[in-house]
Amino acid sequence: MKKYLIIGSGFSGSVLAQQLCENNIVHVVEERSHIGGNCYTEKDAETGITLHQYGPHIFNTDNVEVWNYIQQFCEMVPFINRVKSIYQNQVYSLPINLHTINQFFKKDFSPKEAKSFIESLSDTSIDVPQNFEEQALKFVGKDLYKAFFYGYTKKQWGCEPSELPASILKRLPVRFNYNDNYYAMPLQGIPRNGYTEIFEKMLNHPNITVTLNKKLTAEEIDFSEYDHVFYSGPIDAYFDYKYGRLGYRTVFFEKFTDEGDFQGNAVINYADQETPHTRIHEHKHFTPWEEHDKTVYFKEFSKETDEKDIPYYPKRLQGDMEMLEKYFEEKDKLSNITFIGRLATYRYMDMHHVIAEALETAKQFQ
Ligand code: UDP
Repeated sequence: MKKYLIIGSGFSGSVLAQQLCENNIVHVVEERSHIGGNCYTEKDAETGITLHQYGPHIFNTDNVEVWNYIQQFCEMVPFINRVKSIYQNQVYSLPINLHTINQFFKKDFSPKEAKSFIESLSDTSIDVPQNFEEQALKFVGKDLYKAFFYGYTKKQWGCEPSELPASILKRLPVRFNYNDNYYAMPLQGIPRNGYTEIFEKMLNHPNITVTLNKKLTAEEIDFSEYDHVFYSGPIDAYFDYKYGRLGYRTVFFEKFTDEGDFQGNAVINYADQETPHTRIHEHKHFTPWEEHDKTVYFKEFSKETDEKDIPYYPKRLQGDMEMLEKYFEEKDKLSNITFIGRLATYRYMDMHHVIAEALETAKQFQ
């Protein structure tokens, strides 16, 4: 029986613990007062609505192994996220689809007509897009870019879209039909009882102990006690920021409780630069099978991460990537610790990517 230390109880840490606990002793150390990382959900004391405390999480994947795995710990209720975007007092459909195009240009294009129209707007001087802005100008043209992406992205990332990698925009499809499913993945759902139950079930095993409210620095880890350590915190923090701080955006929320239905949808984005929030999410719409007279919604804002904030989105600007290389060189010198997940590898990963990576990593240590 080996002894493992896992730092962090988000999907990386919890999946690893669950996979390793059958034949090993696993100690999970979590700096927050709860398990589940940013996927943590909690029932609101006043309304009984399940709240995604760190922003909406809609499970979506094309990985059948991950989809089957997660359902050992919850009942996934099919859920399609149909996001709207408000721009100059008009409500549009996202991701950009035939409805968005026809409404925006006041047309009644067929799919073929819309496709050739949008192609005619493409910036043909761009061959292989080098950044977010070029990706947008090539695939949707200037007007749709300015309306739906420019202002939102400046608010979300705090920099010019031309500084950001094209891969961020590649997350979103552009469709020439009326399909307004925000995600392109075939398997989509929301766990019936929220996400926290998943983590509780994963970590509920006699070979697993969980310590909450404990922040471990590299110096504080007693490597002699463990056969291997897994770390899912920020990589720059592990090395005490010796090469500087990697850029992360964080988000924060303003909570409102009201009667009835506030916005009639789970997520509405605010594309205008002048509107300070990026989006509003109304959480009872994530559980349409439940009935609630009251409602809770959150305005979401974005800002640069400072010492006290929880890092959310790795920015991956050029300077960050140069700094990351130095941290990776340090990491590669260590053999008794594995860096895993969004923060420790500084990648923009979704839940299903994180789970798949943890399942794969666990195979070497079972
Ligand atoms: N984005 C945008 N307008 C929108 C929604 C998204 O410009 O209405 C951009 C923004 O830069 C965002 C990226 O597209 O970071 C990817 O969007 P996604 O919804 O995948 O972001 P996430 O779910 O990770 O917040």
